[in-house]
Amino acid sequence: MAETKIISGKDLAKKIKEDIAARVPALVEKYGRAPHLAVILVGEDPASQSYVKSKGKDAEQVGYKSTTIRLPEATTEEELLKIISDLNADSEVDGILVQLPVPKHIDEDRVIEAIARKKDVDGFHPANVAALWQKRPCVYPCTPKGVMRMLEEAGVEIEGKEAVVIGRSNIVGLPMSKMLLDKNATVTIAHSRTRNLAEVTRRADILVAAVGRLRMVTADMVAPGAVVIDVGVNRDPETGKLAGDVDYDAVVEKASVITPVPGGVGPMTRACLMENTLECYLEAMKKNNKED
Ligand code: NDP
Repeated sequence: MAETKIISGKDLAKKIKEDIAARVPALVEKYGRAPHLAVILVGEDPASQSYVKSKGKDAEQVGYKSTTIRLPEATTEEELLKIISDLNADSEVDGILVQLPVPKHIDEDRVIEAIARKKDVDGFHPANVAALWQKRPCVYPCTPKGVMRMLEEAGVEIEGKEAVVIGRSNIVGLPMSKMLLDKNATVTIAHSRTRNLAEVTRRADILVAAVGRLRMVTADMVAPGAVVIDVGVNRDPETGKLAGDVDYDAVVEKASVITPVPGGVGPMTRACLMENTLECYLEAMKKNNKED
């Protein structure tokens, strides 16, 4: 069998960010200001803090204006909604992201719905979700968008292929399945109640694991020559290191294309957030110019 292709999300994300960074000066020249991403973090969850820090760093790296609003755990829903409403009304803010999860006393759905659709860089607003499912223009959620870019980069043909997505969350599994369907894959969505999961996954030409269970996709679950995309991020209790949902060392021997963890889907999610911010900015600038 030909050698397995390992898609470096890290390298591709770097290229995407460099391309954006190269475009920003001309945009500043044309529109008078850089794209502006506002990120809100409520509470002190260490993983969320680190995600928010990376997003701010990415935004600065590509030349955007970046605002991070850190709020105490005790922030009320009303206070948070007011901040979102102010950012919605601020014509110099293009993208708004509330880092999830929010503390339990805040209704996550209300928060997501409060973000203006045109500034919803995560693509989680119900209007964006509906647009995705009705094949209308939308902001694509960053993680599945990143996966699609990786498939494209690796030259994976999707049309007519059997794709199996393990996981059906709103942020990964479901939009991933729809985006593969839109590229004419025949899509199966597997989940915790799927019977004979291995039988289902062995049918896959393209297998996407988005579960959150350390190395649950073993070599016997993968067809020889399959394309395997690992979205999972898990902490290995033995090594303390990050690892995916796929048993990489065994599956790499069998797959034709595979993504590593870390350095795979994670960096692409971040790069696609920068792309989404740029798209929201360009839409806003076009609209402003028309109104001029
Ligand atoms: P969720 O917990 O929301 O969803 C997990 C899904 O996996 C559910 O649909 C669940 O099924 C399914 N599942 C759970 N156990 C099994 C099982 N034994 N067999 C088959 N399916 C199962 O997680 P997310 O979608 O938010 O995230 C998934 C993973 O991706 C996590 O590790 C997360 O950290 C990672 N992630 C990575 C990102 C990145 O940028 N790399 C971005 C976002 C997430 P059911 O619906 O029946 O409960």
